[in-house]
Amino acid sequence: METLFDAAIIGGGPAGLNAALVLGRARKNVILIDEGLPRNRVTHESHGFLTRDGIKPDEFRRIAVEQIRAYPSVRFSADIAVDIAGADGDFKVSAKGGDIYRAKKLLLAVGKKDRLPEIEGLTDVYGKSAFVCPYCDGWELRDRRLAVIAKGERAFHFAKTILGWSERITLCTDGPDELTDAQREELRVRGIPLFDARIRRIVSEDGLVSKVELEEGAAVACTGIFFAPTLVPGSDLPRALGCELTPTGSIAATDVLGKSSVPGVFVAGDIATELNQLIQAAAMGAMAGAGINAELLAEAWEARGRAMRS
Ligand SMILES: Cc1cc2nc3c(=O)[nH]c(=O)nc-3n(C[C@H](O)[C@H](O)[C@H](O)COP(=O)(O)OP(=O)(O)OC[C@H]3O[C@@H](n4cnc5c(N)ncnc54)[C@H](O)[C@@H]3O)c2cc1C
Repeated sequence: METLFDAAIIGGGPAGLNAALVLGRARKNVILIDEGLPRNRVTHESHGFLTRDGIKPDEFRRIAVEQIRAYPSVRFSADIAVDIAGADGDFKVSAKGGDIYRAKKLLLAVGKKDRLPEIEGLTDVYGKSAFVCPYCDGWELRDRRLAVIAKGERAFHFAKTILGWSERITLCTDGPDELTDAQREELRVRGIPLFDARIRRIVSEDGLVSKVELEEGAAVACTGIFFAPTLVPGSDLPRALGCELTPTGSIAATDVLGKSSVPGVFVAGDIATELNQLIQAAAMGAMAGAGINAELLAEAWEARGRAMRS
């Protein structure tokens, strides 16, 4: 007979993996379906995760999978979940490869995807000398001459933040800056150069940026870039399932254990927060694992009571 898993986890980044660890240790049967395209795969090193500072993303995942394999009730599927039917107690997850997995509970840990601004040369430097998060990579670019590529409120916030890592920053808005007069003035009095010309291309060698060329013929010399990507959900499944989304495309959890607005569906990691960090995603996964386990235990408790009474 087809297995009815206690939980299906969709996404095997730190959120999904930590949930699998918690559920495996709680003796639950789990299927973890993962396409294997985590957000940080372009980087050589991950930072800020206690005991793992500087680890390669692949190595982080290898250790996680090795440790989870100690709990035989967790199964892995290298596949893409493409459809979900059913409801709390019996979800049916269809994978691209043709398998269908039945599970009582669901965890959506599908992450987010970065849509890069369309700037020639950006993909050559992304993850090597151009990054999106100063907490992740600011230390490595400290005191360097940096170009900050963003517009409007995000540009203003980014400039203020990145100043904590380097005082040598230049803001390039790649077209109209979308700043207020007050923001422009705040930048000016703090000596932060602002260019609103379109960017022609980013010049680099072996992934190391040397300048940002502007349409007007000027160039901003730099050895590092921070830029603001557009973040979109890692999968359409949350929307298709009817999960409530925030204006930024995150799934709104209703409690710290990651319950979504859809019964039996839990969420964890980048898809459920604006605070995109590995340790945050892992912590949310651990909490969601505990939340799923708590629901399963409560249901088992009721079922046991009914069985004993009859
Ligand atoms: C360039 C870069 C560098 C970063 N560096 C750091 C750093 O140094 N330190 C730090 O703390 N954070 C860093 N981050 C942030 C960090 O990568 C994220 O916060 C973290 O990966 C989120 O974990 P997650 O489990 O939510 O999602 P992810 O790690 O993105 O994992 C989601 C997984 O779900 C899979 N998936 C999606 N949809 C499906 C589907 N339908 N079926 C099957 N699988 C699916 C994806 O393929 C992926 O494997 C960085 C981010 C970027 C972009």
